[in-house]
Amino acid sequence: MANLKLSHIYKVYDNGHKAVNDFCIDIADREFIVFVGPSGCGKSTTLRMIAGLETITAGDMFIGDTLVNDMEPKDRDIAMVFQSYALYPHMTVYENMAFGLRNRKMPEDEIKERVLKAAKMLDIEDYLERKPKEMSGGQRQRVALGRALVRDPKVFLLDEPLSNLDAKLRAAMRTEITALHKSLKTTFIYVTHDQVEAMTMGTRIVVMKLGYVQQIDTPMNLYNEPYNKFVAGFIGTPQMNFFDVKLKRDGDDVHVTFTNGDSVTIPYEKVSKIHSRYLDGKTTAIFGIRPEHILLDKEGEGLKFIVTNVERLGNETIVHGKLGDHLGEFTMKDEGNNIIVKVVDRDDIEVGDVVYASPNPNKVHFFDAETEVTLMSRIPPYNTVEARVAPNGEMQLLNSLVPMPPVFTAPLKGVDCFELNVPPQAIVPGNDFHLKVARIEKVDDKRLAYLANGDVYLFALVGEDVKEGDDYGFSFLNEKVNVSVNGEVVLKALDDEISLIGRFSKTEIKENGERVLHFFYDIGDYLVETAPEHGYKINAIDGDACYKKEYRYTVNRDLVQFVDPTSNGLDGKVLELLDYGNVRFAKTEAFGQQFLLKVSPDFKESNVKIAFDSKDVSVYSTTIDMKIC
Ligand code: ADP
Repeated sequence: MANLKLSHIYKVYDNGHKAVNDFCIDIADREFIVFVGPSGCGKSTTLRMIAGLETITAGDMFIGDTLVNDMEPKDRDIAMVFQSYALYPHMTVYENMAFGLRNRKMPEDEIKERVLKAAKMLDIEDYLERKPKEMSGGQRQRVALGRALVRDPKVFLLDEPLSNLDAKLRAAMRTEITALHKSLKTTFIYVTHDQVEAMTMGTRIVVMKLGYVQQIDTPMNLYNEPYNKFVAGFIGTPQMNFFDVKLKRDGDDVHVTFTNGDSVTIPYEKVSKIHSRYLDGKTTAIFGIRPEHILLDKEGEGLKFIVTNVERLGNETIVHGKLGDHLGEFTMKDEGNNIIVKVVDRDDIEVGDVVYASPNPNKVHFFDAETEVTLMSRIPPYNTVEARVAPNGEMQLLNSLVPMPPVFTAPLKGVDCFELNVPPQAIVPGNDFHLKVARIEKVDDKRLAYLANGDVYLFALVGEDVKEGDDYGFSFLNEKVNVSVNGEVVLKALDDEISLIGRFSKTEIKENGERVLHFFYDIGDYLVETAPEHGYKINAIDGDACYKKEYRYTVNRDLVQFVDPTSNGLDGKVLELLDYGNVRFAKTEAFGQQFLLKVSPDFKESNVKIAFDSKDVSVYSTTIDMKIC
């Protein structure tokens, strides 16, 4: 039994190929985690790093509370089952299962007890004296599972264990492995390229593509709320339908217009999380709808298409079709505009029929045409609020007049109208604005409030005390807001961290007759001594070149301390003070770099000395996109 933690794990192979990028996951004890994705996406590499069969380029891996980056595979208390079974052909089933235990010098009677118990669980008791070649593929895979089982490991790793089996056996073994997981009460990590295996077995699934994690979620969340078009298309068969569309809001409706000019209408309430900039009738978005979420009619409303193929699978029928061209005619040559619909208990649809498709408005998906990221995030990334500069110089927005934060003044010089892009996290209880709470939605452990702002919603994260129907009083964290004029950002929101480019150095000091290494983050004249393990980590990744290279050091703005001029620190010159109304920052220059530091309301210094704790610093490579520690 064990929990696992992968923290910013990277794998760069010797040939420079970056196979795994910034993989982070906390796996709870007894979870069944599935890594899924197309061939080459980095699933096996990640699994092999967990097993200790592959070195980790950067990042930390914990099993339980133990850092295992450099731990030998045999000491990790992990058992791995491979696609190829990897059984010894000259040994009997019993000997194959006992082999690892005998190597560990376990007493024979205990070995026997364990092998018999595992054989019973896997229903291979009658085959213990056979050789692998006398068994079927399914039975051999059970022996491979049994060999892992007898070791009673903390974690089971399974790498495509069912790929060599035929479809029927695969389905049966899926059920058996799930049952095994339940009875063993152990952590399982399972790699597959088969989304059906992933969906049916995993408690959580990690979807990967080209070395990047796309989404980590429960099977149902992946199906209902895919983060991007890739996940949407990967999960579910037949695949989700995708169409380029334009969306136009018209009061309570949104019209979805396809490239052929046809359109369907969806109630605005169902898609209210889509940002208004996609609802102008001009911006292309990708519309996604699963085949099982389309209603088919032989006449009436909906998207007209001609049936090109019908697959009858018994209770289910898969209908393939083609939308008409812009003249409303059908041409078989046209490559695009394909549609697939899954219907249940219908046998009245024939090839050549002209039918009408109506998407279920509760099941629609929309994605950005370029980034392919969902436009319906459970927590919308930002709200756009229209604002004006009032004659007295104050800001007029959300039916309120509030003081203009002094830093907004210069970028808004000569401007009447502007927009604030406000992330839900930047809306905090306060007295600047008041809106009615139309609805509260639970999103994991957060509460998302729909604040009624005319005919759109302002989305905010609120505490337990806020209820539907309340008049909610709030303010903005001005420094977290993007200010734009005619779509151009004129003042960018601040992120939480400051970044400094520096070097990395070491000194050797004699302590009690022994030479001891000390490592430093080296920014200008400021040396921050770092824990030896971080020093060794940087050295392990970049070799001795690390003392010649530059690194990017980031630290949370709130953790930067001001120290007195005689202390160890980085000397900075204050260039100007930036007053955001609710908070002030000093724009500071040090060692040729500029950054903003949070300062108290009465701060007046022109020179500062700052310091930070090495444990609060994150180190990034400046040559490849990689967090080192
Ligand atoms: P998956 O298990 O998802 O099919 P892998 O983890 O096996 O993918 O591989 C991820 C990527 O890393 C692939 O592009 C593969 O070609 C590459 N790769 C795997 N092993 C090595 C290696 N030893 N050296 C260089 N590249 C490798």
